[in-house]
Amino acid sequence: MELAGRKDVPEELTWDLSLIYPTEADWQADFDAAAALAERIGREFRGRLDDPERIVACLDLYEQLEQKFSLVLHYADLAVSVDYYDTASQERSAAVFTKLAEAESALSFIRSEISAAPDDVLEAAIARAARSKNYLKEIRRDRPHRLSAETERALAALSKTFQTPSDVYSMAKLADMRFPSFTVDGREYPLGYSLFEDEYEYERDTAVRRAAFEHFSAKIRQYENVTAAAYNAQVSTEKVLATLRGFPSVFDYLLFDQKVTREMYDRQIDLITEKLAPHMRRYARLIQKKNGLDEMTFADLKLAPDPDMDPRVTIPEARETVRSALSVLGTDYAAMVEEAFDRRWIDFAKNQGKSTGGFCASPYGRGSFILLSWNDRMADVFTIAHELGHAGHFARANAAQSYFDTDVSLYFVEAPSTMNELLLAQYLLRTNSDRRFRRWVLSSLIGNTYYHNFVTHLREAWYQREVYRIIDGGGSVNAETLSGLFRRNLELFWGDAVRINEGAELTWMRQPHYYSGLYSYTYSAGLTVATGVARRIEREGERAVEDWKRVLSAGSTLDPAGLAALAGVDITTDRALLDTIDAVGGIIDEICALTEELEGITV
Ligand SMILES: [Zn+2]
Repeated sequence: MELAGRKDVPEELTWDLSLIYPTEADWQADFDAAAALAERIGREFRGRLDDPERIVACLDLYEQLEQKFSLVLHYADLAVSVDYYDTASQERSAAVFTKLAEAESALSFIRSEISAAPDDVLEAAIARAARSKNYLKEIRRDRPHRLSAETERALAALSKTFQTPSDVYSMAKLADMRFPSFTVDGREYPLGYSLFEDEYEYERDTAVRRAAFEHFSAKIRQYENVTAAAYNAQVSTEKVLATLRGFPSVFDYLLFDQKVTREMYDRQIDLITEKLAPHMRRYARLIQKKNGLDEMTFADLKLAPDPDMDPRVTIPEARETVRSALSVLGTDYAAMVEEAFDRRWIDFAKNQGKSTGGFCASPYGRGSFILLSWNDRMADVFTIAHELGHAGHFARANAAQSYFDTDVSLYFVEAPSTMNELLLAQYLLRTNSDRRFRRWVLSSLIGNTYYHNFVTHLREAWYQREVYRIIDGGGSVNAETLSGLFRRNLELFWGDAVRINEGAELTWMRQPHYYSGLYSYTYSAGLTVATGVARRIEREGERAVEDWKRVLSAGSTLDPAGLAALAGVDITTDRALLDTIDAVGGIIDEICALTEELEGITV
């Protein structure tokens, strides 16, 4: 069974990119307008940004330019993400990238000149600015790390080239890797990247599940050297840039943009590794016992404690469930959910060459675009709730803030999305009193929400920190080093509860996040905030919801600690994280108690 080609997918399962531009001609017109605006800004302001009034006028035009480029780029890029075989959209996307890099390079004088302006001029511009106030404050903060105008221009001109490692990774994974089918007991099974991650990892039949893992691992192993080389190029480049810009370490460089202290970063990795491990090992033992497995291996970790229960849902049912669950956030929020379905913001389809996983992109002022692979499962409803969390965040932030102030720190960006998963779980627990269903919902919180953010991505974060330590020390990495690190990482966390079988060490090959700096750990940070806020909403209702909405609207006008504080959660100490880990432990205890009550199995 081959996946369908993109052109054979029913339209109602696809997103509607005409919400960004009704026709290709409109796209082309805006693309040309952006290019013309870039030229105009250069003509009018180059060499003249030594005056507060002109600085503000220039940035007002620059904001318009950035908005236009963002729309033009999203339109081209989103088309590529659903069909890597579509060479026309590939070419469109490459054309925008080239033009954008050209414009950014030509306009790099804006930051350089403002950065070089005398203090009193910069301060006067900050005082006068309406839409670009925070943008200017950022320039002030970034000043010590600015290089000469010529160097900045050269770096900006190379921005497309800096994307090469990530492009190589995607091409190897999505275009070159073709998985042959495999056979178990005389029966043939098709294999593919998302088939493996969406289906086989959850497969009940142990022989099929483990065979799929083996064949999947064997195929990706053929690409381990090209993937490691791409990754080494990525992290080495980051280190070079960190040094050029005068950061003492690559960590300081990567955390600078996130406005996160090294302490906040290390806390997530260290505390979760140490304190969550005992709870997760108990959960692994429960899965093993409940499923009657001879041993627990890495390939079995996605099994549910109650795999016979896998609630199926249709898309209309998903819509109704998500709308009801999220209406706790207000009627305007529920209306956005309706709009997402009515106006086709979501790409449900499964087809060849489509990006794996899920994401939400929110081009300024044009709604949101959510990519996922729909499999008729309640688990997919959690994905929709998650992605709608991003949509709801940027709908509010984009409406309330200038384009410059919607650049939310990665540390916080997964809070609104994971929060919606928790709200969905709260709703399901409230509206159904069946004990077995209760266990299913709690298990889904652990097996998906917390597993994804506090285990999968956090293990990646631990590994990534080790990689950057090597790079910071002047070293480099190859496939062997990376596999060795990942094996040690998994063994450290799972102890003797899980056997780290062959192939598990290749998990480092499976995430595109590594091409976005210190991204992986932020999932756990966002969920820590989300857990605090979701509990507040359960306890305090309306008042907590109002605070949360203010946070969503604040965009990037506050740093992560400031946003969390506004939502009533203090993330400057261990407390919020320890409370979250306790909550996770409590849920696992309840799942174990329910299993004892329902089936008499004790762990
Ligand atoms: Zn997300």
